[in-house]
This record gives sequence, C-alpha cells and structure tokens, in this order.
Amino acid sequence: MSELNNLPVRVIPRSEHDLSRQQIDENTLKILYRLHRHGYKAYLVGGGVRDLLLGRPPKDFDIGTDATPEQMYKLFRNSRIVGRRFRLVHVLFGRNECIEVATFRRKPVEEEVPDDERFFCENVFGTPREDAFRRDFTINALFYDISDFSIIDYTGGLDDLRRGIIRVIGDPAERFAEDPVRMLRALEFSARLGFELHADIAPAIEQQAPLLAEASSARIREELLELFRHKVGGKVLQRADKLGLLQYLVPDLQAQRESFDLLRQLDLRTATGIDINEPMVLATMYLTPFRHACSSDMALGEVHKFANRELARHCRRFSIAAGIRHQAREMLITFFRLTRGRGRRGEQRFLRHPCVPAGLALFRLWCECSGEHQELLQSWTDALAGKEEQRPRPQRKPGPPRRRRPRKTPPSLV
Ligand code: ATP
Ligand code: MG
Repeated sequence: MSELNNLPVRVIPRSEHDLSRQQIDENTLKILYRLHRHGYKAYLVGGGVRDLLLGRPPKDFDIGTDATPEQMYKLFRNSRIVGRRFRLVHVLFGRNECIEVATFRRKPVEEEVPDDERFFCENVFGTPREDAFRRDFTINALFYDISDFSIIDYTGGLDDLRRGIIRVIGDPAERFAEDPVRMLRALEFSARLGFELHADIAPAIEQQAPLLAEASSARIREELLELFRHKVGGKVLQRADKLGLLQYLVPDLQAQRESFDLLRQLDLRTATGIDINEPMVLATMYLTPFRHACSSDMALGEVHKFANRELARHCRRFSIAAGIRHQAREMLITFFRLTRGRGRRGEQRFLRHPCVPAGLALFRLWCECSGEHQELLQSWTDALAGKEEQRPRPQRKPGPPRRRRPRKTPPSLV
C-alpha cells in the first residue's frame, strides 16, 4: 500500500489519450456537466473508464463526485438516494436508464469502525485520491475529469492497463480479508480482459480463500451469475478450483473436469448471443454428479430424487426460489429421458412438455462436450421441431378398452 500511496498523481491531458466524450452515454454526460456547472467535481469512474481506454463497450457508467447524496438529490429532480451500506444516488432517465452517482469515499480509520463491522455504514466521505485508494484494482481506479477531459491516475492503473495486469491496490491479503468477494473479482477481470494476475494475488487467494465462506450468499449468487453473463464462468470456476477458492464459493459442487468443460461450453453458447439464465447455469453445474448418480434403467421417480438431491443444498444456501430450482430439476430429468433414446411409450406427450426445449439445450451442451450421441441429438431436435414424419403408433392388441391409472405424481416430467 505504502509504495502505491507514494506514487505522484498522473494527469493525462486530453491531447494525450484517446477517451472521447462521444463514447460516453448522453445522459451520463448530462449529469457530469450539471455537477460541474454547479461547482462540484464530476468524474467518470470505475469500469467505464477502464473499458473505454481498452476500446471495449462499457457495461455501465459510474460517476464520482464531491457533492453529498443530499446535494445531488437537490440538483437532480429525477433522482433518489439508495443503499444503507453505501449511500448512493440513482439518477433516472425514462423507465429503463439509471445512472449511479457516488460521493468520493475513503477507507475509514480504525476508531471509526465499530466492533461489528458487518453493520458499519461505509459512508465516510473523502478526497478523490482517497476514493481511488479504496477501490479494488489499479485498473478500476482511473478517473475521467469532465472539467478538462483529462484522465487522473493515482494508483498506476494506466501502466497496468497497458501491460495487461490485475494488481490489487494495497496488500492483497489485507484487501481480500476486508472484502473476500474481491478474490472472485480478481479472477473475473483476469478472465474477462485476458489480463495476468499480478504475482502476489494467487498466494493471497490461497491464504484467504476460507474467508469467502462468510461473505453474503446473495452477493456471491449475483457475482456467480455475472461471471456467466460475461461468458467466463467455466474459466473462472476452474481457476478458483486450482487456487482452493471453489470449495468456499460453491461448497456443494464436487466439480470434476467434465463439469468445467460443460461450463466452458455454456460460455461459448452465451458468446453466440443466447441469453444466460440461472436454471441453465444450475443444471449445467450439477449435471455431472447427477449423471453419475443415475443409471439408464433407473425409474423416473428415483431420477427425480437424485436431481432434487443435487440441487437442494445449493438452492437452500443461496436462497434460490423454488421456481428456479424446479426448472433446473426438470432440465436434468429431461436430459436423462433424452439420453435413453427414442421410441418409448408416451414420447409424443413428453415432447409437448414445456421443459423439453430447455432440457434439449442441456443435452446438446453435453453432446458437444463429449462428442457422444450426435445422431440421437439430431433425431430429438427434428422431432421437437416437428420435422420428422409421425412415427406409427404402436398397435394395441384387440381387447377391452384400457383404463388409465390415476396419476400419482405432480404434473412434472416424471
Ligand atoms: P463491470 O461493471 O464492467 O462489471 P466495474 O469495474 O465497473 O466492472 P462494478 O461492480 O460496476 O465493476 O464496480 C464499479 C467500481 O467500484 C469498480 O470499478 C471498482 O473501482 C469499485 N468496486 C466495486 N466493487 C468493489 C470492491 N468489492 N472493493 C473495492 N472497490 C470496488
Ligand atoms: Mg460497472
């Protein structure tokens, strides 16, 4: 920390960098200008600056300012103050756009932190320099100043951006202890940007990994989905496994090589533009242990039990709604039924079940990974698309009309 702290600030004038206002969203510019006109500092901060300098489209734009949330609230009629841990202002445009504006903050000094840190409200306002140093990585601590269009670099982020390095601001073990989710974020940015982790990060993760078990499960659930939205879930979880982090991140997953291959395949699928959804992530994560638990002659009731068993602990731990768990379970059961081949009784009814397309997507993922069942996959795909001729129904033996037994199970695939 001290080494970086002694770095002189670098200010790169507009003529010496490529970040142009034209790349910034119009409403973000409106906020920046309005703050500036009213005498406040107004910076574009965080991932927006990083991504624009890398020539990538930013996911969102965040703004930092020295105006307090109350001052901002007065300045923007279309705003609201949100958050307890971090008080921020959301400025709303129309129904869909919401831009986050945060007052510069600093790391609280020891006396300011109460004994139970979890309930500490981290609203200690600070200078822009202090705000840069409380951020996670140097490449995430760059500011774009709207008053003169310069880039301000307190932590050496520009050099790391050029060299492709993820470097923690300060001592990695300490910063990971402060917020264990940063360990996951380090792996995420490394995978998303194709950057190397600085040499001191992996040992610090190995040392602090168990702390992740105490992080909020809601936050981890969101970060996990974020990995898959960014198409790096497989890569990051595999690396987390190597560094001993996975067992604290997703404790119920006994991941094997096949699991990582499947998750990477899922990322490739997302890269083609198909949206990611949580049931698909869950079903892919737990497909391997589920497959190993089932044998092809198993009754569907048993299969249902195994699918449930694989998902239940995870869903309870992360408070995942029953509806999402249900969809993931039906995908696993559909997968099982698809692997058994064509021509079973009740096939037409099975094909009409609303869960079959999602289950088929899971089956496709597995076929792509394993190279197995290519013909069967094509055959099911055609059947579902209604491309094949109706198969002759099995002839019933002459005799009195059959009576159906009443259904014992709920209207699931079983
Ligand atoms: P993206 O939005 O593209 O995923 P980002 O860097 O903008 O990446 P956000 O989660 O939007 O990530 O956070 C915005 C900024 O807030 C980060 O760039 C970083 O400076 C800071 N930040 C976020 N999470 C942390 C954290 N856990 N510890 C310290 N700083 C953080
Ligand atoms: Mg962001």
